[in-house]
Amino acid sequence: MNQIPKARRIAVVTGGMGGLGVAICRQLANAGRHVIALDLAARVERLAGLQHELADLEGIVGFEPADVSDFEQCQQVIARIEQQHGGIDVLVNAAGITRDTSLRKMSPQQWHELMRVNLDGVFNMCRHVVDGMSSRGFGRIVNISSVNGQTGQFGQTNYSAAKAGVHGFSMALARETARRGVTVNTVSPGYCDTPMVAAVSAEVREQIIADIPVGRLGTPGDIARAVGFLAADDAGYLTGINLPVNGGYFMSF
Ligand code: NAD
Repeated sequence: MNQIPKARRIAVVTGGMGGLGVAICRQLANAGRHVIALDLAARVERLAGLQHELADLEGIVGFEPADVSDFEQCQQVIARIEQQHGGIDVLVNAAGITRDTSLRKMSPQQWHELMRVNLDGVFNMCRHVVDGMSSRGFGRIVNISSVNGQTGQFGQTNYSAAKAGVHGFSMALARETARRGVTVNTVSPGYCDTPMVAAVSAEVREQIIADIPVGRLGTPGDIARAVGFLAADDAGYLTGINLPVNGGYFMSF
């Protein structure tokens, strides 16, 4: 195990091997952070490729398997990371799933599965890092929501509810930690060029792009840039905000 210089901040990114997660890991590593990508065990196969890409950077990316919907697993993985590397300074909650269908067809299982990952997952992770951050007097928490949590989306009552809930959670926790050097913010990506959006039909995709003033889908790098901004050491006066990164999408309304 490499010895980490004390000055290097430790960052954990849930969903760290996903379309946006990898870009967020890269952004934070680029800023010299020691980054732990936390994701489902099966995603470890992406780690070698990421480490290869980052070989010339100062930062480091490692991997820890965990299911964010499981409270005990989150507690155990955070304890393991803190024991190996020291206190967690930056937490980015990017793990997320969709279970799309109209409400008329939505099963309780589709509702609860999504809530357990997209909303409980944020609680499960924050619950176990916030005391350490508060006692050390520094922390940056960035929760990834979605434009669909701000506008609602057909077929996504579960997803839109969870994503709107994520920002309510961020604001409440931001108030609880504001005097302890811990900021809590939300980033709400618009439609990004990732497998999630690639799955829609060409016709729907064209319509989505037509509604984006910038005239293109977002890139994972666009989102990671915003996360890096909020996670910076000198971003301590920004807390409880919801930063939309959507190519000016709201101006279309
Ligand atoms: P993705 O599917 O590529 O990545 C999500 C990652 O989360 C995957 O690596 C997956 O393994 C992981 N994950 C899922 N369930 C998990 C669990 N229980 N425990 C741990 N990890 C788990 O999706 P993405 O496009 O990278 O999205 C990342 C975040 O951004 C999500 O929260 C998503 O809702 C949000 N978002 C994405 C878009 C977009 O256009 N891609 C837009 C708005 C918001």
